[in-house]
Amino acid sequence: MYDDNPKTKIGDVIEISCATCRLNLDGSVAAMVDDEVVQVTCRTCGNTQKYAPPMDDEDRRKRVMKRVVGGREKKRVMQEKSSKEMKVAYSPNEITARWRQATQGMRSAEGAIYNPKHTYQEGDAIIHPQHGFGIATQVIHENAVMVLFREVEVPVEMGAARK
Ligand SMILES: [Zn+2]
Repeated sequence: MYDDNPKTKIGDVIEISCATCRLNLDGSVAAMVDDEVVQVTCRTCGNTQKYAPPMDDEDRRKRVMKRVVGGREKKRVMQEKSSKEMKVAYSPNEITARWRQATQGMRSAEGAIYNPKHTYQEGDAIIHPQHGFGIATQVIHENAVMVLFREVEVPVEMGAARK
């Protein structure tokens, strides 16, 4: 009896889609489970791999396109995200660096608890209830002083009683 679909067996050469060569090529059957080919060895690169049936060119092209476009999209989002983070992160980092320098060798205990009635001068250490330990960097006018805190540099009211 003529069998027009002879069973594949180990060592047979069949058409495969090689993951390494990325081409439809001849591969020899390396492992089978029941009647199914599970592993093949590419006759071109010699890599033994999971069997994948040959892909038609149109299908392959679409997959490649999808991967390229998908990759680009992802990269663009990543770049946008990182530049946004940079913008936000840069300024506070700079402030913190300046604050560290300004408060070097000082302890927060040296600062005076912030009192809006007091008048502060540049270099005065202030403990603010919201912003913490800060150094007055610039007297803006008689009722406001710029204070550099760990996270922010903001004008702080002073000399309130003199208004
Ligand atoms: Zn190959």
